[in-house]
Amino acid sequence: MKITDKLSHAHASEQAPPTFSFEFFTPKTTQGVQNLYDRMDRMYNLNPLFIDITWNAGGRLSTLTTEMVNTTSTVLGLETCMHLTCTNMDLKLIDDALQSAYDSGCQNILALRGDPPLDGSESTGDFKYALHLIKYIKSKYGDHFNIGIAGYPEGHPEDEGDQAKTIEFLKAKQDAGGDFIVTQMFYDADRFIDWCHKIREAGITIPVIPGIMPISTYAAFLRRAKWSEIHIPQHFMERLTPIKDDDAKVREEGTQLVIEMCQRIVEAGVVNHLHFYTMNLEKATLMILEGLNLVSKQQITDMKQPWRKSLNPNRINESVRPIFWKNRKFTYIQRTSNWDEP
Ligand SMILES: Cc1cc2nc3c(=O)[nH]c(=O)nc-3n(C[C@H](O)[C@H](O)[C@H](O)COP(=O)(O)OP(=O)(O)OC[C@H]3O[C@@H](n4cnc5c(N)ncnc54)[C@H](O)[C@@H]3O)c2cc1C
Repeated sequence: MKITDKLSHAHASEQAPPTFSFEFFTPKTTQGVQNLYDRMDRMYNLNPLFIDITWNAGGRLSTLTTEMVNTTSTVLGLETCMHLTCTNMDLKLIDDALQSAYDSGCQNILALRGDPPLDGSESTGDFKYALHLIKYIKSKYGDHFNIGIAGYPEGHPEDEGDQAKTIEFLKAKQDAGGDFIVTQMFYDADRFIDWCHKIREAGITIPVIPGIMPISTYAAFLRRAKWSEIHIPQHFMERLTPIKDDDAKVREEGTQLVIEMCQRIVEAGVVNHLHFYTMNLEKATLMILEGLNLVSKQQITDMKQPWRKSLNPNRINESVRPIFWKNRKFTYIQRTSNWDEP
C-alpha cells in the first residue's frame, strides 16, 4: 500500500496519535542480514506504518537492497519503502531494482540522487539530480509507485546556506511527482518548524516525514551531527556534555531530549508522523516510542518473546517457550547474543 494512503487512513481523525516508521540500512555480513530480518520482524510488532531500507551505490550492497526489499515485502509481509539513488550507477541496475520492487509488491520508493564520489570527481550515469529519477520512474510506472523525496530542513551542504534555492529544488521534485518528503536528521525543533512553514509558503503541500535520529553515545551523536552539518541546540550540549563518558546516562538523557523535540514538532502541528533512523538497533528507538506513549509496555514485552503470541484463547497468556523450540540446536540466548551485529 502507498505510504500517503496509509498516512491518510491513520490520520483521518485529527485526534489520532502520531504514527511512526523505521529506517534500516543494509548490513555488511550474511549473519548481519539474518539478524536484521529477525529484528525487523520483531519491531514490526510495534505497528510502524512502514519500514525502509537504504541504498548503497556500487558493489554487492546495492543488489542487497533489492533482495532485502523483496524478502521484507514478499516473505515477511512488511510494508516497505526502497531507497534508490541514481548517480554513479548503470541504468540497468536502476531498472532491475524498480522491476524487482514492482514484482514483490513494494509500492514505495525514496528517490534520491546519492552523494558525489569522495575523491571529488564528477558523478557519472544517466541522471544528474533526484528530479530526473522521479521523472524516469513516473514515465515508466505512472502512478504505481508512491515516490518519496529527501528534504533538508537545515539546507543541503552543496547549496551553501541558500535556503531559498534548496526549497525551490524541493518544490521541483514535488511538482515532478514526489508524494512525500523524508527529512535529513535534525535536533533543532525551532529550525525544523520554521522550515515547515517556509516550504508550505513556497507551495509544497505533500506530507513531511521528519527523520529522527536517537542518541546512543555522545561520540556518535556529535559525529552524526557533524556529518549532516546540522545545528546542535545549546540545551543538548548542556545536558549531554557533563555525562559524556557514561553511555547509559547519555542514552537516557539523549532519549529525553529527543522525546521533547518530537513532542514539540508534533504539538506545533507541522507533522503527524515520526521516522526513526534505527541504525539497525532497537533499544534507543524503543525508549523514545515508550516515552512518547506510542507503544505500550505490553507491546514491548510481546516483542521480546522469541515466538508469536498464540491466538488460541487458552494459550494467549503463555509466557514460556512453546514445545517445538526445545528441538532447536542452540538456545535463544545463544542465537541472539550478537543481534546488534551490523
Ligand atoms: C531521508 C534521506 C535518505 C537518504 N538515503 C540515502 C540512501 O539510502 N543512500 C544514499 O546513498 N544516500 C542517501 N541519502 C543521502 C542523499 O543521497 C544525499 O544527501 C545527496 O547528496 C542528495 O540527494 P537528493 O536526493 O536530496 O538530491 P537532489 O534533490 O538531486 O539534490 C542534490 C543537490 O542538488 C541541488 N539540486 C537539485 N535539483 C537541482 C536542479 N534541478 N538544478 C540544480 N541543482 C539542483 C539540491 O539543492 C542539492 O544541493 C539520503 C538522504 C536523506 C535526506
